[in-house]
Order: sequence, then C-alpha cells, then structure tokens
Amino acid sequence: TDAYLAAMERARVLNAYVTETPEKARDMARASDARLAAGKAGPLEGLPLGIKDLYATEGVHTQACSHILDGFKPTYESTVSANLWADGAVMLGKLNMDEFAMGSSNETSHYGSVVNPWRRNGSDVNLVPGGSSGGSAAAVAARLCLGATATDTGGSIRQPAAFTGTTGIKPTYGRCSRWGLVAFASSLDQAGPIARDVRDAAILLKSMASVDPKDTTSVDLPVPDYEAAVGKSVKGFRIGIPKEYRLDGMPAEMDALWKKGIEILRDAGAEIVDISLPHTKYALPAYYIVAPAEASSNLARYDGVRYGLRVPGSDIVDMYENTRAAGFGAEVKRRILIGTYVLSAGYYDAYYLRAQKVRTLIKRDFETVYAAGVDAILTPATPSAAFGIGEKADADPVEMYLNDVFTVTVNMAGLPGLAVPAGLNAEGLPLGLQLIGRPFDEETLFTLGAAIE
Ligand code: GLN
Repeated sequence: TDAYLAAMERARVLNAYVTETPEKARDMARASDARLAAGKAGPLEGLPLGIKDLYATEGVHTQACSHILDGFKPTYESTVSANLWADGAVMLGKLNMDEFAMGSSNETSHYGSVVNPWRRNGSDVNLVPGGSSGGSAAAVAARLCLGATATDTGGSIRQPAAFTGTTGIKPTYGRCSRWGLVAFASSLDQAGPIARDVRDAAILLKSMASVDPKDTTSVDLPVPDYEAAVGKSVKGFRIGIPKEYRLDGMPAEMDALWKKGIEILRDAGAEIVDISLPHTKYALPAYYIVAPAEASSNLARYDGVRYGLRVPGSDIVDMYENTRAAGFGAEVKRRILIGTYVLSAGYYDAYYLRAQKVRTLIKRDFETVYAAGVDAILTPATPSAAFGIGEKADADPVEMYLNDVFTVTVNMAGLPGLAVPAGLNAEGLPLGLQLIGRPFDEETLFTLGAAIE
C-alpha cells in the first residue's frame, strides 16, 4: 500500500486519481495485516485497488466527476466495493472518469483529461486512455493500483482496457449489483474490473459479483470460481466471427489483429465459424436513443436540493435551472436534451419505442448464433488504437460515439464481454480484442482470453 501511494504521488501528471485516500488506505492495510497475522486472511487480503468515482464510497467524496456533485460524501457504500472490502482489499482512492460515464476519452470529466501512460514510438503527444473508465485503465496500466473497479454502459470498461493494454470484463447484466453506482442508463450499466491480466480480472470479478436484495436486477446464481477457468484448454470451443464487424475503412492493423486472434484460437484447438449478426449496424443509433433516454430520467434527481452543488436563484425553479446550467457539462446536457426529446409525447413511438424494438432484434441475433452452437464471439474491441487528447473532442460528437461500435451491441443484449490485449501496432500502441459470451458464461471468456493474452 505504501509503495502504491508513493507511485500515485509521483504520477499525478497522469490525472488518474481525483481523490486519494492515503489515511484510509493505511488503516485498511493495517487491519489486513492484523487479519493475516491472525490467520483470517480473505481472498483479496491487503491488495490495493482504485475505485471509479461512479461508485458510492462511504464518507469519501463521490462525484462521478461532475461539478453538480461537488462535495457529495455518501453515507453508504456500493455493494460491489463493499464486497471487495469484505474480502480484504484496500482502497487507494477514487479514479477519474468521463462525467456521469458519458464519453469514450475521459475528456468530459470535470477534473480534466487523463493521460494514457502509453505513447506512440518516439512521440511526446499525450494520448487519451479511452473512457469512460479512463482513470481506472490508466491507473492499472501505470501500476498505480493492482486492479480497479470500472463500469460499462456501452463500452466503458472494454474500450479503455483496449487503449491501455489492460484487461477488462463487462459481466452479464445482473451479475454484479448496481446498488450504489451513480446511475447513467440503468438497463445497460454494469460494474466490472479492469486488471493487469485475465487471471487478475477473474479474481476481482469473483469478489465483485453477488446477488443483492437492494438491486432487484441482480441475479441469484452461484458465482463460479472464475480463476479456475484461466489456463483451461480451448479445444472444441466454437468461436463465431461476425461478418458485420468488418467495417469499411477500419485500419488494416485492426484487421490484422483480428486475424491474429483467430489464428491463436484455431492453433489452440478451437473451431472457427463465420456467423452473421444482421442487426449490428442499428446498435449504435439505437443505443444513442436508449442510453440518453434513461440518463435524462436518472439525472432529473440533481436539482440543487438533494446533492452537491446549489446555485441560488430568485425562486426554486430558477435555482434548479441555475444549478443544472452550471453543474452539468456540455456532453451531459446534450444527452439530457436527446433523452427528453425521444421520450416526449409525439416522439416516443418514433424514437424510443422503435429503439427498444431494435434492441430486441439485436438480442435475438445473438440468441440465434448461440442456439446454433457458438460458444463465444471474437471481434476487435475498438475500431482504432488510442488517439490524441483533443484530437476528437472538438469534432462532431458522433465521431466520438463511433468508438463504441463494437461494444454497445453487448450492452444492448445484456451479454458478457471481455477485452484482452493482443499486441502492439506499428507505433507501439496496444490493441485489444473482444470476446462476447453467452449469458452468465463469463468462464468461457476467461478461458479464451487467457489463451490470447
Ligand atoms: N462511450 C459510451 C457513451 O458515451 C459508453 C459509455 C459507458 O459505457 N459508460 O455513452
């Protein structure tokens, strides 16, 4: 713990942590020492972790990196972080993220950009770590924690993992409790770990996952020993390669990476089959209706009364308006506007209801290939390697949304998805592959991911 706290201090230039909790960390580490000495060690005893700022942490500033939550200190702990502490883990601090987890580059954070610890060969251009869990990914990659919590609504675990050469898994919807996570889009949000390798991700997910009476969408299924899946043979697994993920204009290096992943799995004894997921192209537009719709509702609670920031006004409505005008950043406001529009009378049927129907079709695409005997699906995790800070932030927002083109389908269908590093491009940047699994079959993803990494 002391070594990590010192490393965090030396690496503040990366802006990965928004709140450091050194005293709490040392207290927790001392309690760990005592349990170790008493022979009562938990499975994560003494392991120092970083927590995404989206997780409510009791008595510790929790802001989802939004100005509107200034000063908010929850009186409760999220179920997922409580599970980690119950297993002996130590909290180092809270990690930077896009505001309310809306973004793909960590540039929408109220606390500014996170710097990706990776750079292009011979270049001093600072790159984004991806988002929204950019702080989590950068901190793991730069060794500023042993592992980190993250969340994924449309790709926010897998895309930053791919951009930083780390491993991240979005479990099946319902595998982890969402209680105590600041809500973005409740039907899509899932907690998961970002870790140094597949084994660490498996160990962390085992601790994070649980059924929870405080989240009725969490599922009452036994949590398997995920670590036991790491290192198993992939012989006989059927891996689907969806033709719709071969995008026009995708950089050749992504195509080469995909081929390399296919070869690795084939050489290890897996069977590779071509598949079709015909509604893939509608996933991104449907996501950018469903996610903002749910966000506009979830974010209605920030009114200057119950949480954080309050900007006075001449009456209460004026106070609401002033608070929300000052407290939300541009991307969050854009999502609220889109969300209230697509839910409004007259537009609901044309946009929101239609997007929900598309969502069902996307889910059925996956059900069809799984029913035909496919065990998992292999795709690139992202359409490109990490890009420069500022390079896309000022462009058309839709260009930023395209980062999620391979990941949002998985959230729309509620499936598990693992991002695993699979090599470097010619400029020396990490590239990631994505494995998509059957519902609640994270084990197969850990087995296949370990064969690739
Ligand atoms: N980048 C996507 C968005 O901005 C996904 C974010 C996420 O998974 N939290 O909505």
